[in-house]
Amino acid sequence: MPNVRNGLAGRDLLDLGAMDLAEMEEALQHRGHPRFHARQIYSWIHSKGVTDFERMTDLSRALRADLPGQFRISTPKVVQRETSTDGTTKFLLELEDGRRIESVFIPDTPAQTFCVSTQVGCAMKCGFCLTGKMGLLRNLDAGEIAGQVRVLAGALDLRDSRFNIVLMGMGEPLHNYDNTMKALRILNDTHGLAVSPKRVTLSTVGVLPALERLATEPLMPNLAISLHATTEDQREALVPVNRKYGLKEILDAARKFPLKRRSRITFEYVLLNGVNDTPEDAKRLVGLLGKIRCKVNLIPLNEAAGIAFERPADARVNRFAEILAKGGATVSVRKSRGRDIRAACGQLIVEGNQKSPAQRAAGLL
Ligand code: SF4
Repeated sequence: MPNVRNGLAGRDLLDLGAMDLAEMEEALQHRGHPRFHARQIYSWIHSKGVTDFERMTDLSRALRADLPGQFRISTPKVVQRETSTDGTTKFLLELEDGRRIESVFIPDTPAQTFCVSTQVGCAMKCGFCLTGKMGLLRNLDAGEIAGQVRVLAGALDLRDSRFNIVLMGMGEPLHNYDNTMKALRILNDTHGLAVSPKRVTLSTVGVLPALERLATEPLMPNLAISLHATTEDQREALVPVNRKYGLKEILDAARKFPLKRRSRITFEYVLLNGVNDTPEDAKRLVGLLGKIRCKVNLIPLNEAAGIAFERPADARVNRFAEILAKGGATVSVRKSRGRDIRAACGQLIVEGNQKSPAQRAAGLL
């Protein structure tokens, strides 16, 4: 049953959850309400996690009665939650249009971290990624990106805790630049969750024009670049966008990227058995990174049905890491998280799809 009030169907109402504070003030004023109520409503939504206008008890009765006919607060709905023995919790979230995305809570990396999505599917088609196989279905709006944090923080009772955010879920954040940056502004606002950009890491395969734009942002998150290869040919095979923005150009952009004191770029490197994990690859990687202030995060592949690559044995991973370390690189190996709960990005959705032909028939993820 659609939400119909005052003649407007629910999804035609303006979404307060997707507005930054200035937009909310404007929207309220436009509907004849004092601007200062925006700060109260913003705090209810983002800081307290309350999305029912009736429960916003510091607003007048008259305003609480008016708001539902003028606005909505779109909030991703948890439809599935799986917790691993290591505490990693994977959430399947449904959006207003029925599309589904994944968000993940990782308890100790060493801080508590939310991994959120920026798109439904992804256009980048990286060869080792299930999400890439879906193609891009649509961008998330800012409210849907920030809303994942709001929902996970509420579901895990972490609203008042310190946590980190990594934009490493489904999608390429720089391919949805404006919504991603607006979501960071919504999350940063002190009337909401007040998440400092220092606690946010944006992970990209290197969409070059957007990377250059990111370098000028006032609220600049930490940067992680997904490299995954040490030659142009190898990277083109694994990360097709490399045909447009090549390895050399990405590394040049990384060299110029403005870094605050003591911060470093993270280079992510998914290790694929026998493909990009040889000692020669490791030596080339040391050479490529040269004097860039960086660390390398090695990620042994999370295997999944439909992915034509294998995870290397621990000995191969260790040898690769040792060569990097001997070459002077700061290197870490990502602990395998949540392997008992389908850890690969997109796995809940792709495998859920396989189990749900009715949903597929309806055009939903
Ligand atoms: S690895 Fe990231 S950028 Fe590549 S296809 Fe998957 S979601 Fe997209």
